[in-house]
Amino acid sequence: MSGYRPFLSLEITKECPLRCPGCYAYAPEHLGGETLLRQLSDYKGDELVRRAVAMVKELRPLHVSIIGGEPLVRYREVSEILKRLEALGVRAQLVTSAVRPIPPEWAMLKNLQLVVSIDGLQPEHDRRRTPATYARIQEHISGQKITVHCTITRQFAQRDGYLEEFSRFWSAKEEVKRIWFSSYTPQDGEISDERLRPEDRTAVVREVRRLRNRYPKVHATDQMLDAFAKPPQSPEECIFARTTDCYAADLTTKVTPCQLGGKPVCAECGCLASVGMAAVGRHRLAGLVTLESLFAASFRIGENVRKRRMEKAAARTEGRGSQAGGPEALEGEV
Ligand code: SF4
Ligand code: SF4
Repeated sequence: MSGYRPFLSLEITKECPLRCPGCYAYAPEHLGGETLLRQLSDYKGDELVRRAVAMVKELRPLHVSIIGGEPLVRYREVSEILKRLEALGVRAQLVTSAVRPIPPEWAMLKNLQLVVSIDGLQPEHDRRRTPATYARIQEHISGQKITVHCTITRQFAQRDGYLEEFSRFWSAKEEVKRIWFSSYTPQDGEISDERLRPEDRTAVVREVRRLRNRYPKVHATDQMLDAFAKPPQSPEECIFARTTDCYAADLTTKVTPCQLGGKPVCAECGCLASVGMAAVGRHRLAGLVTLESLFAASFRIGENVRKRRMEKAAARTEGRGSQAGGPEALEGEV
């Protein structure tokens, strides 16, 4: 309602030592087709810290996702950014391949959720994600508490017992506090081995529902699994897309319609954030009103406030209308 989106997603660097098949960040359509992530200029050192923190102060999110590229490529800067976010009372999530050791001090941060992408069992993962191999990940997460995140592709979905073996292996690790599964989200017109068919999706939902009872670290609520079976059909229906500002590595280029960029097939979306938010949206307050409908009303008001704030800021920049009051005055009206 106040015209600020609660979530911010930052591609903190354009660099990554991995070359994963199906990576959306380096796909030609990620930034709309005219520019590639690797062609953007990005920042390092104090400049990166200063700009990232300034964005957080300006956009006022409650939660910041730090993604890449590979955030550990800028681990010194990210350490400083995470400390500043903690001081600002902003929660953070960092998604990494664990290609290098995770700084030990990150384990002390109360506001940080550390997510390590592990795509399948060792033979498949190592083939897809070298140099962030199983051996290195297990070494590099020592002393941390991580969430394992696995993106299920069609190849994994079709192999009997595969997800169970994965859940068993990572559940046994003391550093792992939670296991998340998403499924591969294709781009419009994509033909690939990763893309799930409807029958694969049904089987995956059934399997994850079974696994979460056997392996308590597998986190998937009934509502999330229901939303996974029936994801939002468009970005307009997607609460995650509408509540998240996503920026590429130059901290200026917006990634739309969500952090996947390009033209994702929402009807086949497997993004955990999207299904998680959809699950919340479909919840009925007192069995009557869906949170989705309350959100829609709040969003309409917020967008108007946001528009007026931007108009006032533009007017101030041009030297007009500065007497009308800044964003604070506008919030007072709200
Ligand atoms: S680690 Fe992430 S950003 Fe790097 S290539 Fe793999 S999927 Fe892409
Ligand atoms: S997160 Fe999924 S449903 Fe939402 S806009 Fe992106 S692809 Fe579509």
